[in-house]
Amino acid sequence: MYQHTLAELSGLLHNKKISSEELTRTFIERSESFNKELNCYISITSELAMKQARAADRRIQSATAGPLTGIPVAHKDIFCTRDIKTSCASRMLDNFIAPYDATVVEKLNAAGMVTLGKTNMDEFAMGSSNETSFYGATLNPWDKLRVPGGSSGGSASAVAARLIPAATGTDTGGSIRQPAAFCGITGLKPTYGRVSRYGMIAYASSLDQGGPLAQTAEDTALLLSAMAGFDARDSTSVDRAVDDYTAELNTPLDGVTIGLPKEYFSEKLDNQIGDKIAAAIKLLERSGARIREIELPSTQLSIPAYYVVASAECSSNLERYDGVRYGYRCEQPGDLADLYCRSRAEGFGREVKRRIMIGTYVLSSGYYDAYYLKAQKVRRLIRDDFQNAFKDVDIILGPTTPTTAFKLNEHMDNPVDMYLSDIFTVPANLAGLPGISIPAGFADGLPVGMQLIANYFQEAKLLNVAHQYQQQTEWHKHAAREDLIS
Ligand code: GLN
Repeated sequence: MYQHTLAELSGLLHNKKISSEELTRTFIERSESFNKELNCYISITSELAMKQARAADRRIQSATAGPLTGIPVAHKDIFCTRDIKTSCASRMLDNFIAPYDATVVEKLNAAGMVTLGKTNMDEFAMGSSNETSFYGATLNPWDKLRVPGGSSGGSASAVAARLIPAATGTDTGGSIRQPAAFCGITGLKPTYGRVSRYGMIAYASSLDQGGPLAQTAEDTALLLSAMAGFDARDSTSVDRAVDDYTAELNTPLDGVTIGLPKEYFSEKLDNQIGDKIAAAIKLLERSGARIREIELPSTQLSIPAYYVVASAECSSNLERYDGVRYGYRCEQPGDLADLYCRSRAEGFGREVKRRIMIGTYVLSSGYYDAYYLKAQKVRRLIRDDFQNAFKDVDIILGPTTPTTAFKLNEHMDNPVDMYLSDIFTVPANLAGLPGISIPAGFADGLPVGMQLIANYFQEAKLLNVAHQYQQQTEWHKHAAREDLIS
């Protein structure tokens, strides 16, 4: 039963072939047993889950259920969950029990989903490998010597190992799409402002966006329909009607124009990934899509611009962790300055401190113009590149990552190498565009991810193309082999 997609499980629940209680118990058992191997959860909330499952069964009996009612979900530990530890994978928040639910959590609860736990992540979502977590690295279920990607690596690993049918994540520079690619699942980053950031612990506020991870595009469409929408509590949330993301899934691809940015197919791309993406392009062309080459000339500027902007915003956002109001406080502070300094020095990990230092530097007077302002100008160039491209194409297609999942510790001593692996994902964040990563094959037994990017609020189109591809391929159906996990 655990192999089913969310959409299939929804059908089984509604036809009363299974109950949510049964389903939830199955996923709790799997999660508890395989978590020992994979470390994808920070907390497993079995008691709450069983309570919510019983409530969901009552809703299904009384015919007041929606498509998500009774389906277990895990939330990245960056989303505040009332009365449940919300750590952001940091020692700083190891003792933090959130007093309220994030809007995303509130909405999925209202839809009747069952919260099974909180997933592991890079500390404060800073990383591409899940190795910066205070709770230790999450492993990739396809190869336990490799990373699941990050920062939503716990969510991706759990879905790939079929410990949960769906999970939430956040994507500041690729943190939904890159782990989805490394773990062979589907991950959607919506348009900036489409999903409320209220209660989602801030990393870089102008880039952060929450979204779903699941097996298929159809599943992420169902989830996005429930997660999206205006929220007066998030000042950057966009007041615009939410589309029915499942309505257009079966639209034929005739007349859809797909652009291939030549910068995304450079010599830096792993050959095997290039071949898989080329095969996917042929398939889409046979299905009626028109293919053309495009240019996104500012692509190579996106990594430096991103790491300046993201660090600047994080240095400001993380100022609030001062050891006074909540979170970690050092033992026996000598005075106030000592309390601030030691609480932060002991509460934050290395990567977080590196980002705060970089951010403080690029915002300081004298360097602001040279770095921060310059990065903002580059950001505009990147956005303009996309807007030019979207004059001619509906969808932009390329690989999600330049390589498949890398080995644990491979990039830990060289942060710049780690940063460079985000080259294909950060441009969409800098521009605020929606993007999805879907499985497109395997290279040496490891999943290959294909990324589709659309214009603002065109999630329905994005999901349509992804769904049409998945109707003709089987890649998303492969689950990591149990004998490799256990
Ligand atoms: N790897 C990127 C970073 O470290 C992206 C992280 C994210 O999207 N949260 O900032």
